[in-house]
Amino acid sequence: MTAEDKTRLATLLDMSGDFLRDEHWREREAPAFEDDAADHAAQTAMEVGGDSLETIAAEVCGCRACGLCDLRILPVPGEGVQQPLLLVIGEAPGSEEDERGKPFVGVAGQLLDRMLASIHLSRATNCFITNTVKCRPPGNRDPSPDETAACARFLARQMRILRPAYILCVGRIAAQTMLHTSEGIGRLRGKFFDYTPDYQPDNAGDAPAIPLIATYHPSALLRDASLKRPAWEDLKTLLARLQI
Ligand code: SF4
Repeated sequence: MTAEDKTRLATLLDMSGDFLRDEHWREREAPAFEDDAADHAAQTAMEVGGDSLETIAAEVCGCRACGLCDLRILPVPGEGVQQPLLLVIGEAPGSEEDERGKPFVGVAGQLLDRMLASIHLSRATNCFITNTVKCRPPGNRDPSPDETAACARFLARQMRILRPAYILCVGRIAAQTMLHTSEGIGRLRGKFFDYTPDYQPDNAGDAPAIPLIATYHPSALLRDASLKRPAWEDLKTLLARLQI
């Protein structure tokens, strides 16, 4: 059993009590586990059209295409499995992500992991997690349109390789960026859109649309507990579609 499997099992057991008490995602420290040796299988690098997640990550790390490069500690390309069931897209790295070079590893990220675990998802088994912008905006401000535009090519290339079955946007910025709208998250959340990928498929024709759903950012749930119930409804809507 992998460490993630153990964490997921522990989380689900812990959450079952929370649900009985109607506390869906109580804040708690995640227990630390290690993989069983036999299950410590490395992800095999996969190339699509000569491109790979490793190549993109290396380019992100050397990227100076917008002003955020001068302010970052570490860029955050993203992490997860190849060809995920779900691609989770957030806005931009925060301070802890900036220090560690990994997406969603702070308090909000731990909540995101618990939200995903509640519908049988994790970055270790069936998800890939990234952001629309790969470097931290100072003071956690919103990325500017120029910064988002400069970084969009990396997400587009990641999606061409990942070919996710579904997309979950967490937060207003990610949802607005992916859906090319200025509509608020309150109106965008909880329903499916058809996202048309930018990449060209290997065969002739258009790339198939990917079902995309949005919900509140876990940081918003930490600031406003009243958003947890609608977020849980969004996750249940996603789970019903995933059929896992
Ligand atoms: S945010 Fe994106 S475009 Fe800007 S420097 Fe980082 S990787 Fe490059």
